[in-house]
Amino acid sequence: MANQFSFQRQVETYAKADVIVIGGGPAGTAAAISASRLGKKVILLERSGQLGGMGTLGNVSIFMPIGNVTGIYREMIAEVLSEYLPEQHDVSIAPQYSPFVLRYYLNEKMKKENVEVCFHTEFVGVVQEGRQVKAVVAATREGLRAFEGGQFIDCTGDARVALDAGVPYTSGREEDGLTQPMTLMFMMQNTGKPVNSILPEGCYYYENKSDLPQGRHLFWERNKDGNLLVNMTRVKGNGAKIADVNYAETEALRQVFSVVHYLQRNGFENYALAHIAGQVGVRETNQIVGLYTLTEQDVLEGRRFADVVAQTNYEIDIHSPDGKKTCDERHVDGYDIPYRTMVPEAVDNLLVAGRAISATHVAMSSMRVQATCYALGQAAGIAASLAFADGCPTRDISIAALQDVLLQQDAVLKFAPEAEGV
Ligand SMILES: Cc1cc2nc3c(=O)[nH]c(=O)nc-3n(C[C@H](O)[C@H](O)[C@H](O)COP(=O)(O)OP(=O)(O)OC[C@H]3O[C@@H](n4cnc5c(N)ncnc54)[C@H](O)[C@@H]3O)c2cc1C
Repeated sequence: MANQFSFQRQVETYAKADVIVIGGGPAGTAAAISASRLGKKVILLERSGQLGGMGTLGNVSIFMPIGNVTGIYREMIAEVLSEYLPEQHDVSIAPQYSPFVLRYYLNEKMKKENVEVCFHTEFVGVVQEGRQVKAVVAATREGLRAFEGGQFIDCTGDARVALDAGVPYTSGREEDGLTQPMTLMFMMQNTGKPVNSILPEGCYYYENKSDLPQGRHLFWERNKDGNLLVNMTRVKGNGAKIADVNYAETEALRQVFSVVHYLQRNGFENYALAHIAGQVGVRETNQIVGLYTLTEQDVLEGRRFADVVAQTNYEIDIHSPDGKKTCDERHVDGYDIPYRTMVPEAVDNLLVAGRAISATHVAMSSMRVQATCYALGQAAGIAASLAFADGCPTRDISIAALQDVLLQQDAVLKFAPEAEGV
């Protein structure tokens, strides 16, 4: 057994808020906005220097369609991607956007929405009294600092706060715990003339498509501006494990240069490497065990729930977790995500929004895309605000009130819920 140390410190409080959101990705930004719109003082803690999560930091740069483009996400699309009307996106288009523009937009949006953002502030641990989280401790530019709050929303993608608070969790496939692989996204730009690229030492010479890490071409140039977005690296492992991430960051970068060289030999002679994401993209790590766990059956049968807070018809989309070059892609007609998937059993003032909600490996592969995470974040921000106002545990808020406020905030739940199992 590894050595263990007890670590006790007095930590100064940096700030207090009604609602503390941890993680500034799709879920976290939407949660902060919706809570602030209800008059709550909101602080958003983000470990990097940018908002948008995988959508900017990971250079995902595409919003996959979910069939119900609504609420804060719809507003954002209209504001930041005026060339893609939400109506078009509703039908089938998956807009490709500039992660740099989105990053700028989100900073400005937070200012307008009166959300205080603390960048380079990484959650480290919770301070708990019984079933209540009193504060979170974060590593900041000034050392460890506490952030006191009434309600906390974990939007770290990894359920990092919930795990520290003792919330049970699962990870990966039921049979072996393997998660979807990681991918380092990159961009190439058409320079109008041949680019003489040298394959760096240690990189791979991919002769054919079948040699590629995913065994396929996966890139987009939707805006026809010579900007090619490439999703072709793949590294097996769990993005919440130290050793796996250490390996993935170096191996994925090796693959980037190898794929660039391959593409330049196969139709993209004039394209130069233009941008590599700041970190390897992580698809799947931890799922909390909440009051309800979304299952493959719910997704495939199009289940409706009376406590619906988000809806999607994005496909089941599993990049093989075991190192194979395959994807399990299955059509989905549309289903509800119930509020209870965000509510942990044993902590009263904590919600988890975004890809780490309570869902099985297969179900999370469908709900994980950005638009759904924005929708869940918006609902979590409202729910936390209601719980704060009523002084009740998050599990006891009025679902009718939550859905009313979602509607007031322009989140339309399109398909009539056929009430089941609240
Ligand atoms: C390679 C790849 C390709 C994808 N392709 C698409 C696509 O084409 N379209 C699409 O819609 N979706 C796509 N996705 C899925 C989508 O990007 C993510 O599932 C989604 O961004 C998850 O949102 P989130 O808010 O839950 O978490 P994240 O986006 O992971 O954001 C979490 C945020 O929390 C911060 N954070 C983490 N830990 C801490 C901490 N301890 N303290 C403070 N902050 C912390 C992170 O820095 C980050 O900003 C892709 C994902 C990957 C990895």
